Amino acid sequence: MIDVSTYPVQTVAQSRIAECDFNNLQFGKTFADHMFVVDYKDGGWQQPRVVPYGNLSLSPALSSLHYGQALFEGLKATKNEAGDILVFRPEANARRLNASAVRLCMPELPEEIFMNGLAQLLTVDRNWIPTQPGCSLYIRPVMFATDDYIGVKPSDTYSFIIFTSPVGAYYNKPVRVKVETHYTRAAPGGMGFAKAAGNYAAAMYPSQLAHQQGYDQLLWTDGREHKYFEESGTMNVIFVVNGKVLTPPTTDSILKGVTRDSVLQLARDWGYTVEERPVSVEEIIAAAKNGTLEEAFGAGTAATIAHIALIHHEGTDYTLPPVEARKLSNRLYQGMDDIKTGRAADPHSWVFKV
Ligand SMILES: *Cc1c(COP(=O)(O)O)cnc(C)c1O
Repeated sequence: MIDVSTYPVQTVAQSRIAECDFNNLQFGKTFADHMFVVDYKDGGWQQPRVVPYGNLSLSPALSSLHYGQALFEGLKATKNEAGDILVFRPEANARRLNASAVRLCMPELPEEIFMNGLAQLLTVDRNWIPTQPGCSLYIRPVMFATDDYIGVKPSDTYSFIIFTSPVGAYYNKPVRVKVETHYTRAAPGGMGFAKAAGNYAAAMYPSQLAHQQGYDQLLWTDGREHKYFEESGTMNVIFVVNGKVLTPPTTDSILKGVTRDSVLQLARDWGYTVEERPVSVEEIIAAAKNGTLEEAFGAGTAATIAHIALIHHEGTDYTLPPVEARKLSNRLYQGMDDIKTGRAADPHSWVFKV
């Protein structure tokens, strides 16, 4: 338990919660009443505060709009049966936020400001945390440069904001993915490991081409040779071949997913052999051909597990076994949900109770 009475809170005069249809939530379109804000100037973070969620007034010269000093995070809160607010591994997000900040020449945010602000915001907006099965409150921290200056240099001022959005049960429709062998999401020495806004911009055009060709997402390969898998869309990628769990190691071009880390740990707990090592396209296509590719999925906060139904590579579609037959990924999905909602034991102390 932490003291959440630290920061000033300006509450809304009238909550918008009555307008929110919790049985029909669309991802990322409805926002809770409040947001947590802290600004950086004069070489330090200023007074953190909780204020009504609302628009910002920004200069057209805002440096983050021009040069992309902008990063974000994503995590989720739920409630257990007793009504306690539970957040899944928020300290991991606070640490990753700072790893991203260092790469983008932005100031690190003390972990206690992140944690206190988050706890306080969730307490104020606790009624916005859905209790329907599979639903949760998606939490979006974002940090961006705020200098009104179009010279190319790191900004002297920044804003850090946390706002939240109630989200429904994510329908895990198995995805058709295409192995990308021309475009790259991230290169060695680049910022692929950072949750930087610009990484998403770089991925949109190749993803759109894949959509036009009838695929839901791309399987990104390494920027040097396009021989090794990196990520699946905006999620980490995990394969099961012959009962073994294979996933690329988190290099500087791969984002260190909290879901990835958690599901690999659960798989190890359950006695699976987990290999974090370069996984080549050749190896996976060979396994798909000889029937040893049992499962493939993306791992990330939004969906937890996104089953891969089909992999397209150089003109051929390789269909994977039906989702019902996938022992590990189905068990992981359920196991993660049970831990996140407090229904199962939490042996790794992942759940933070506000
Ligand atoms: C956020 C993200 C992930 C998944 O990270 P989680 O912490 O599991 O949500 C994976 N890849 C990319 C590129 C991401 O931005």
